[in-house]
Amino acid sequence: MRFRRLSLTGFKSFVEPAELRIEPGLTGVVGPNGCGKSNLLEALRWVMGEGSPKSLRGGGMEDVIFAGTASRPARDFAEVSLLLDRGPEGEAEVTRRIERGAGSAYRVDGRDVRQKDVALLFADAATGAHSPALVSQGRIGAMIAARPAERRQMLEEAAGIAGLHVRRKDAETRLRATEANLQRLDELLGDQE
Ligand code: ATP
Repeated sequence: MRFRRLSLTGFKSFVEPAELRIEPGLTGVVGPNGCGKSNLLEALRWVMGEGSPKSLRGGGMEDVIFAGTASRPARDFAEVSLLLDRGPEGEAEVTRRIERGAGSAYRVDGRDVRQKDVALLFADAATGAHSPALVSQGRIGAMIAARPAERRQMLEEAAGIAGLHVRRKDAETRLRATEANLQRLDELLGDQE
């Protein structure tokens, strides 16, 4: 999977629609202090399903919406899209949108999907909102100080097997529900005998 283009509207300082074409070889973004470099990386993590406002330097998730300046009013929504090249499966565009008072919604190629679907799509390609490949300020220190279980999680994300854990948990939940149903059925049959 390759990231091709990141499109932002109303996300943090990117009040006007903006596009970042991600050409092969791009490894970093440079610019003056406060120009929005970290906001770009946060937009990338956000569209991949980041659920913690704190890790996006906010108090609540709506803090990602352009908050206004002395000369510009605040916006009511933020939207970020990521165009993906999925090799033989072709291109796909993942979009996340948040509206004040209405929370987040996700789409893949215009179809409504769940946050979990988006997280799995990226996890299967060994990436995602918590990918160790996205190195934000303070992240290196956090990796060094990580506990063994956290470090193992980072390695599993890098190896692309994080999605398997989510699927195993789902399968176990379904199995338990089926076992409970079978037990109930046995009891009902027993009552009838
Ligand atoms: P540095 O090099 O200092 O780390 P940077 O280029 O990474 O800076 P960012 O931290 O991405 O810059 O951007 C900071 C700017 O984004 C600040 O001017 C801040 O006011 C603005 N900003 C953050 N959130 C919002 C928001 N919700 N609405 C409007 N502006 C915002």
